[in-house]
Amino acid sequence: MNKISQIIGSSRKVVIKIGSNVLSSDNGTVNNTILHNIVEQANELMKLGKQVIIVSSGAGICGVGAINKWERRGDINYKQALCAIGQVELMMAYKNLFADYDLHVAQLLLTREDFNDNTRTLNIRNTLFTLIDEGVVPIINENDTVSVEEIKIGDNDALSALTANLWNADLLILLSDIDGLYDKDPKTNKDARLIEEIHGTERLNEQIDVRGKSPFGTGGISTKIEAARQVNAYGIPMVLLNGKKAGIILDVMRKKEAGTVFLGK
Ligand code: ADP
Repeated sequence: MNKISQIIGSSRKVVIKIGSNVLSSDNGTVNNTILHNIVEQANELMKLGKQVIIVSSGAGICGVGAINKWERRGDINYKQALCAIGQVELMMAYKNLFADYDLHVAQLLLTREDFNDNTRTLNIRNTLFTLIDEGVVPIINENDTVSVEEIKIGDNDALSALTANLWNADLLILLSDIDGLYDKDPKTNKDARLIEEIHGTERLNEQIDVRGKSPFGTGGISTKIEAARQVNAYGIPMVLLNGKKAGIILDVMRKKEAGTVFLGK
């Protein structure tokens, strides 16, 4: 059995982070087929006895789809307004899709600062544990209205790592629009080579080219490497998979070879 399938198969508490690219169609609106497929996979994982927390980007894209304007506005206040509008749409989509499986969803909007405050982290933890115990699917996003940096540098990768650590997850899965970590950006380099296993992230930024990012993406590959570093420090593995491929998590769990796994040293 390959390592990733073994890790997914044996993990009970799983955080799944969905990048904006995964959720966006070529025209910049939300891709409902993919969203539906990810919800279907989360439900399957839960049926197998796993507990799932979702960290979802995509509010901005949903905002553009909802009001069909401002997408070219660079001003931060318009970006935040789009996220505020789109977050409702995004949650409505999740709510309706999970309802097909008789599952409820809950929204948590967090900022990095929330994780630096003991009382707040306790409250987040208590809420998460209660929701999970009751079989509700927590869906977390950055609170864009109050976190300007998020929009500038985009960091739901970090948010998902913080969540995985706070919840003592067994596994963090990042769904992006690439098949894993390559030695250089696969979008611009045809000869880019997939790296299947990473042991320790210390010198990775020096070894691989990390500069590219996709049109609707925010963090690029370096925030993913940093997320791996953060969770690996707590003994949690991270898996990077192509969320645009239908059924990818389940396929990999059932032995399909794909993705990159980041393990501690
Ligand atoms: P997301 O919305 O999923 O967070 P991002 O656009 O922020 O996605 O980051 C993923 C992108 O990073 C990929 O689409 C790819 O073009 C780019 N990238 C740059 N360097 C690499 C690399 N070495 N390996 C894989 N992807 C890379």
